[in-house]
Amino acid sequence: MTAPPAYADVVARIARAAQAAGRAAGNVTLVAVSKMQPWEAVAPVLAAGQTVFGENRVQEAVARWSERRGEVTLHLIGPLQTNKAADAVAFFDVIETVDREKLARVLAEEMQKQGRAPRLYVQVNTGEEPQKAGVIPAEADAFIALCRATYGLHIEGLMCIPPVDEPAGPHFALLAKIAARNGLAGLSMGMSDDFETAIAFGATAVRVGSAVFGART
Ligand SMILES: *Cc1c(COP(=O)(O)O)cnc(C)c1O
Repeated sequence: MTAPPAYADVVARIARAAQAAGRAAGNVTLVAVSKMQPWEAVAPVLAAGQTVFGENRVQEAVARWSERRGEVTLHLIGPLQTNKAADAVAFFDVIETVDREKLARVLAEEMQKQGRAPRLYVQVNTGEEPQKAGVIPAEADAFIALCRATYGLHIEGLMCIPPVDEPAGPHFALLAKIAARNGLAGLSMGMSDDFETAIAFGATAVRVGSAVFGART
C-alpha cells in the first residue's frame, strides 16, 4: 500500500531537516498525533508502517488503540490527572507530561504496583503561560532531581509546547539547555508548524498531527 502523501511528505521533511542538522534521520522519532482524528485518517498511516502515535486523553487512546495495542508504541502527550495515572501507566509506553510532585508520586506508586515502567518525560512550560501545563524553567532542575531522588523515576527527557504567538526557536533552545545540564538525552519538541526548527535545535521526537492527518474535526 502506498503511503498517504501528507504522511510521506512529513517523513521526508524530517529526514531532510535531520540531515541539514548533521544528524541521522533515524535519530528523530515521528510521533504521529492521532488525537481527535477519524479512523479513516489514521488507518492508512498505520498501514504505511507508522508505529508511533500520540494521544492527548487516556480514554480516547484506550478506545482507539486497545484492539491494536500490540502493533504500536503510544505516547501520552496531554495533561494527566492523578486519578487517571493508573490507566495511563497500564496503557502507554511513554508519558510525556510529568509536571508536578503529586503526579510523580502517583506514577511511581502505580509503576511499582503494576510492574510496568513507561518511559517518562518532564513537561516544561517554557513560555511560563498560566493556562499551560508543565514546570516553569526555573523549577525544572529541582523537579527533575525530585523525580529521580525521591521517587526513583527514570526520566528520559523533556517535552515542551511553545506559545503559539512567539517564534519557537528560543523555546526549543531553552528546553535543550535544561536537558543538557540535567543529563537528559530526550527532547520531545516540534509540532506541525515548527518540527523542522525543532530538529535543528536537537529534537529527538517531533509530535506532528495535522500535517500528517489533516485538520482535526
Ligand atoms: C495536538 C498536539 C500536537 C500536534 O499538533 P499539530 O499542530 O496538529 O501537529 C503536538 N503536541 C501536543 C502536546 C498536542 O496536544
